[in-house]
Amino acid sequence: MRLRNVKGASELIENCDYVVKNYNEYKGSFNKLFNNKNSLHIEIGMGKGDFIIEMAKRNPNINFIGIEKYDSVIVRAIEKLNDIYLPNLKLIRMDASVIDSVFNKEVDVIYLNFSDPWPKARHSNRRLSSTNFLKKYDNIFKSDMKIIMKTDNTDLFEFSLIEFVNYGYKIEYISLDLSAEQDLDNVMTEYEKKFSSKGYKIYKVVVKK
Ligand code: SAM
Repeated sequence: MRLRNVKGASELIENCDYVVKNYNEYKGSFNKLFNNKNSLHIEIGMGKGDFIIEMAKRNPNINFIGIEKYDSVIVRAIEKLNDIYLPNLKLIRMDASVIDSVFNKEVDVIYLNFSDPWPKARHSNRRLSSTNFLKKYDNIFKSDMKIIMKTDNTDLFEFSLIEFVNYGYKIEYISLDLSAEQDLDNVMTEYEKKFSSKGYKIYKVVVKK
């Protein structure tokens, strides 16, 4: 998802208190941002923020950080936060390829929602559930490692399951048709709303190490 030419995007980002600009200063101590020792959940590739904003609203005792690569996308989340006060939510504009230089042994849960599938085999290292990224996540998790993934993409889902299991993760929960579960606790992402409404099957897996 890449929106082009959002006028004033960098200004909006600069002036938004939800966006952590000096995130490199918090490595290993992100709890100081929130002034508490609550657990930290991050969503990598949060897009326009529907999921992470709703999760923060529903779970005031958990700290959330949404990570997004593009200015033009993160501004859409910022616009939704205009009149909302959520002290347990922060956003970071960065490429997750350097995630292990930003966080250190402090993350409890990683959400990967409708991650870019990178269908070409030669780009498989760019998939956020590839071993390339799982190695980086080892360094950012506090102790127990938990990844929660949702996607509509069968190839990405199969690839991810193999990567998770080969890397030592155990499958705690799996659904091959999340919409059929009628789970009232499920918080839908933008992509999930779009694809569910078209009748696509949504896959979900929770893995732990
Ligand atoms: N999670 C949202 C949802 O489910 O509606 C957005 C899904 S969209 C397909 C994937 C998002 O991940 C895009 O906004 C993209 O810019 C972001 N993204 C992809 N690779 C990324 C990376 N390496 N670091 C940070 N964000 C990334």
